[in-house]
Amino acid sequence: MRSMLVVGNWKMNGTRSSWNELLSALVSGIKPQSIAGVCVPFVAIPEASELLEDTEINLGSQNVADQEAGAFTGETSASMLVEYGCKLAIVGHSERRQLYGESSELVADRYAQAISHSLKPILCVGETLEQREADKTFDIVAEQLAAVTGKSGVESLAKGIIAYEPVWAIGTGVTASPEQAQEVHAFIRNRIAESDETIAANIQILYGGSVKANNASELFGMPDIDGGLIGGASLDAESFISICQSASSVE
Ligand code: PEP
Repeated sequence: MRSMLVVGNWKMNGTRSSWNELLSALVSGIKPQSIAGVCVPFVAIPEASELLEDTEINLGSQNVADQEAGAFTGETSASMLVEYGCKLAIVGHSERRQLYGESSELVADRYAQAISHSLKPILCVGETLEQREADKTFDIVAEQLAAVTGKSGVESLAKGIIAYEPVWAIGTGVTASPEQAQEVHAFIRNRIAESDETIAANIQILYGGSVKANNASELFGMPDIDGGLIGGASLDAESFISICQSASSVE
């Protein structure tokens, strides 16, 4: 049986004091803590790691290097992140793909680095509005998934998490309907099942795209939605705690 997971993606927001305030509120407010994760800015990781040390909230990064070590200015390796207590790393977020030109191949290399250090990658996949309107949603998602399985094999999915994040729903206030999201989640699970039914049945597939306290329950109630990747609403303790409660009441 898959467990639910709700992961906050703080993006490039906040200050040292607001991060600490938010983390303290999450530590005391989320039950059970193991249902939650937070992907914080890189510089916040050491302090967040200390604050979360005796808790079950999963610490994560928002990206991870595609290489082991060396002359790769601006990158942070999987082993460095693990040393600082990270359990999760987002890879292939649409903001990285679109604003920083990250290809599916690069994302697959980042995914491979993460799993080789037991850092759990959250692989983001999803279509733009234009692609959805051109009826290409399944093709796009399949291509993004195939880049990872082509490089690391379908068995690598047993070590990761997938987040379906329709680009048109991220930060826009427009959420995919539970039915729209479920349709793509089921497609992803069935696609994996063609190669490995056990992995397909066990992999957590999170939904991301304007999840808020008032729509989380409906989304999380769908059979193939195993939680959420939360942007804007993860910056507000009350909202994020409420979203975590919605997830825990599904279990
Ligand atoms: C995200 O960026 O991963 C995201 C889902 O953002 P938001 O919840 O703000 O749409």
